[in-house]
Amino acid sequence: MDIKNLGRGRPILIAFAVTAVIALFAITASMMGVRTAQAAYSGPTSAQSVARDEVNPVNAEPTVGVAFVPEGGVDLFRGPDRDPYFRIHEGLALPYLHRYDNWLLVTTTCNDTAWINVEDVGVQDQATAQSTGTGFEVSSATIVLDPGHGDRDWGGVGPSGLSEKSVNLDIADRVRTLMESSQDVDWDTGTISSGTAVSAFGSVVLTRDVIGPNGGDFEAGLGYRATLGTAAGADVFVSIHNNTVPRIDSDIPGSEVYYSAGVDDSDRLAGLIYEELLRSFAAFDADWTGGELLGARARLDPDTGEDYYGLLRRATMPAVIVEGVYISEPDEEALLDDPNFRQAYAEAVYRGTVRFLSTADSGASVNDPEYFHYDSGTVSGNGCQLPAQPE
Ligand SMILES: [Zn+2]
Repeated sequence: MDIKNLGRGRPILIAFAVTAVIALFAITASMMGVRTAQAAYSGPTSAQSVARDEVNPVNAEPTVGVAFVPEGGVDLFRGPDRDPYFRIHEGLALPYLHRYDNWLLVTTTCNDTAWINVEDVGVQDQATAQSTGTGFEVSSATIVLDPGHGDRDWGGVGPSGLSEKSVNLDIADRVRTLMESSQDVDWDTGTISSGTAVSAFGSVVLTRDVIGPNGGDFEAGLGYRATLGTAAGADVFVSIHNNTVPRIDSDIPGSEVYYSAGVDDSDRLAGLIYEELLRSFAAFDADWTGGELLGARARLDPDTGEDYYGLLRRATMPAVIVEGVYISEPDEEALLDDPNFRQAYAEAVYRGTVRFLSTADSGASVNDPEYFHYDSGTVSGNGCQLPAQPE
């Protein structure tokens, strides 16, 4: 997964982003003549709904959701009723956690914030999470899929030059295609076919979408990715990756699914996706490689006891990072280059997610969280370029 881009160093950025949001809001509120006492509002909880209505006097529209940038792009503003300073690329899903009249405060792909006018975009309100298990309405499910890496961050690269960022994107796009139509699933064999047994998912949002900049090959910060999950009100957040640097030969694929130790039930989601990965990959042949531990895992920062991976630490819903196979190994790189294998990977994520949402199945090979002593150093988001809409 290219650990350098997933580990520590990000809390500073998040703290900065939150501070910036609050500061920006305070500045904006004072500009608009709002009492400063109200400028402290910083979240969408129901306890704050009175404050929200006061800050947002013209209407009481939901203040949290996802804005979809339409064809032609959309203008970014430094504040409501200011001059636009940048036109951001079409095809992006931008989460917003605040609304002021017709203005949405979005998080950009570079983790910073900007205002956009609600009339310029398509808006999807934050969904209300459902309880998983029997009776769960898949037709109302909201899923955020996160193809790992992008642009200058290639992720793992195979010996023949296949990059994780591109295969992750294709796999996520295939999961989306499965989820956006109703399907029949033969749960004995895992075979998926067109049918009506599992309804189409209510909403599937990608952090990197093929309709976005450069065919989906753009840089997306961890703060942006995690915020998109939260703002969408996702029932499930699935980050798609492939692995590098195995340590031992293995009779079975060395698949790993990392779960958020901080969010209940993430381990069950991880175990189910792991089980389905093994079922999908059993149809393929390779000299498999793996690490010392296989299955569903969680890594904790030994200093804080929190999730080591920034994406999982920030998750507010069941969330996993799927590490399908080892792109750094010739055999497994060749499999990832095969569309049939990428489809099998996607089908495993689909089946695991459906089982997580609509059954009480427990999933296989769930390991306890472990402390992780890898020092990835400080990572900065320096140099992230916002994708501009072409003229
Ligand atoms: Zn990766």
